[in-house]
Amino acid sequence: MRSHLLNDATAEEYRRSVTEGVERVAAKIATTDRPFTGVTVDALSPRIDEIDLDEPLHDTAAVLDELEDVYLRDAVYFHHPRYLAHLNCPVVIPALLGEAVLSAVNSSLDTWDQSAGGTLIERKLIDWTCARIGLGPAADGVFTSGGTQSNLQALLLAREEAKAEDFASLRIFASEVSHFSVKKSAKLLGLGPDAVVSVPVDHDKRMQTVALARELERCAKGGLVPMAVVATGGTTDFGSIDPLPEIAGLCEQYGVWLHVDAAYGCGLLASLKYRDRIDGIERADSVTVDYHKSFFQPVSSSAVLVRDAATLRHATYHADYLNPRRMVQERIPNQVDKSLQTTRRFDALKLWMTLRVMGADGIGQLFDEVCDLAAEGWKLLAADPRFDVVVRPSLSTLVFRYIPAAVTDPAEIDRANLYARKALFASGDAVVAGTKVAGRHYLKFTLLNPETTTADMAAVLDLIAGHAEQYLGDSLDRAS
Ligand SMILES: *Cc1c(COP(=O)(O)O)cnc(C)c1O
Repeated sequence: MRSHLLNDATAEEYRRSVTEGVERVAAKIATTDRPFTGVTVDALSPRIDEIDLDEPLHDTAAVLDELEDVYLRDAVYFHHPRYLAHLNCPVVIPALLGEAVLSAVNSSLDTWDQSAGGTLIERKLIDWTCARIGLGPAADGVFTSGGTQSNLQALLLAREEAKAEDFASLRIFASEVSHFSVKKSAKLLGLGPDAVVSVPVDHDKRMQTVALARELERCAKGGLVPMAVVATGGTTDFGSIDPLPEIAGLCEQYGVWLHVDAAYGCGLLASLKYRDRIDGIERADSVTVDYHKSFFQPVSSSAVLVRDAATLRHATYHADYLNPRRMVQERIPNQVDKSLQTTRRFDALKLWMTLRVMGADGIGQLFDEVCDLAAEGWKLLAADPRFDVVVRPSLSTLVFRYIPAAVTDPAEIDRANLYARKALFASGDAVVAGTKVAGRHYLKFTLLNPETTTADMAAVLDLIAGHAEQYLGDSLDRAS
């Protein structure tokens, strides 16, 4: 069994084995003609059920054959131009190279003595990101597993900085279309059930600052403590960007921590054309970025950044065996002092390889392309009487619904749209997402693939209309 451990004696086997896997994936990627096969849970689960994990195959090729059957054939492929559903990007090759390196070397970024140069590389990328945001000379941060964890950590710091005697008095202000991790964080942080105040949005799905001002005033008058305002720099559903400068002004006025959740919109930090759309982010106390959304990085790759490095102390604990206090005096950089995690992947290496090979402008160019694509898609939808489109995109998302001319019952229109999404998924021809707007079912394109064309969008819209019409035709038949 020692032959399976990667070491000096097995380096050749490592090369052979990983290459075999890479060959399979490359062959798969080169030949997938649809984003999904449409496989059902019922069809797939018996194939996995029947595998006996206590009966290994001992042979890599045989295991890869099996993997083809239980996973690769029916996986959902984000690189396909007709995958238009969630915030999943196609990934850049330099990042995959980084992934191969980081998993084999297997550095753990909690302490210097488990990573050495890895720690310095991560720190340099954090500094680079802080500079792109414009957070100032005292800024710092740390890589995390994703936007959810970044938001949790930012709100932990905000809670501690609020210095409240009673957590029940703390309030977080976030728009009604902010990410649900804000509410989840409030719960994990021991705040009360009413802790998150939902601020209404305007027609463009941006936080109404007049309403925010009113809520901050109400909070102060009621003897409650405003803990944080979460402004979203690119909402998950609409890509809408809250008015950051106005919100920052209110936060200064009321002395409230400003967290900008730019999990999605962070791609603008590299943009060559649209950087100004996220202006005001430099006034945040903390920022969430998800490189695994708009920097074309494989999952996971995210970071939380703060204006004042000293606030990260709220996540600092010392263990004699790991990061004793004396190491701080010795100026040994232990990233665990800033992180909620202990053992932690060297995800930063993926971004490092990306920036070293492609440069930030390369990433920004790709993100600009998907923003431009969304603008084209909006025109397409706005000109098509079969569809109602919600907001003109600030990033790369389009929310719309099929509206048949002959049907007026909104519930029936909901069902037709739900049906169309399901039927499309089952066909595997394309994958789109769905959401609700004012209680009604809508469909969504999240465009993160520069390979997607306007013709792809037009073709998928035709497919959607076809499925919806089929549903309505069938439902007429049922009624008669
Ligand atoms: C995706 C997203 C998150 C959560 O990020 P994960 O990486 O999925 O944990 C948080 N906020 C916004 C605005 C997002 O779009």
